[in-house]
Amino acid sequence: MKFLSVIGHWLIDILFGFSASEKALNKELLKIHEQTPSEPIPTLKYHPNPLATMSALDVHGISKPKTCDCCGRKTNITCGIFGINFIPNEYSHVKKAEVEPQLCLHCIANGSATTKFDGKFIDPDASDCPIHDPEKRDELAFRTLGTYSHRVSLWLTCCDDYCALIDCDQSGYVIEIRGIKHKLKKRWLASEGSKIYTFEDVQKALDVGTHIGYLFRCIHCKKYRLYLDKRK
Ligand SMILES: [Zn+2]
Ligand SMILES: [Zn+2]
Repeated sequence: MKFLSVIGHWLIDILFGFSASEKALNKELLKIHEQTPSEPIPTLKYHPNPLATMSALDVHGISKPKTCDCCGRKTNITCGIFGINFIPNEYSHVKKAEVEPQLCLHCIANGSATTKFDGKFIDPDASDCPIHDPEKRDELAFRTLGTYSHRVSLWLTCCDDYCALIDCDQSGYVIEIRGIKHKLKKRWLASEGSKIYTFEDVQKALDVGTHIGYLFRCIHCKKYRLYLDKRK
């Protein structure tokens, strides 16, 4: 809500002729996307800023803290287990849950959430290149939170490791505000069946909303990669 209200504020500024330059606007938007959490968050190797991807929500100043259904602690930063596309095993009791369990990031980072609710967050085989190291596979499957509302079909890789998901682009502005367009041109991939051949197609797909862009960054060589997934 804070995000929308700030955009609204900027739009009003523009309409009334008080606008800052586009660059300043982008800087402001990026700041919102990289908001500082109201409480310390644990290290999530492959999904380091879940507030930027909107997979977790910081309710500080908006509503009361929530209780984690795994460890029982009260926290401002949680995510709903269904919202982040938890993949339950056959006999997982979460399948029968009537109320969506809330998880704190600590229970995700230390693996207790996937143990308690019996399942995984991400399929380690759903990557563009196979990763064989069992430690890396377990980190992705059991200690990396998934993406909000729509499961990313492919987790991108680089330098023989999974990349870190750093942002979700629902409307084509993330690439713009991060100023990384020129770095991405040869490092994007689109979901099967997508007619995306040029970088202009990439931007169009994000602008018209047929695809969601998942922006990854290699944790070794630091290169950016983008995956375009068709909205289901
Ligand atoms: Zn917890
Ligand atoms: Zn790399």
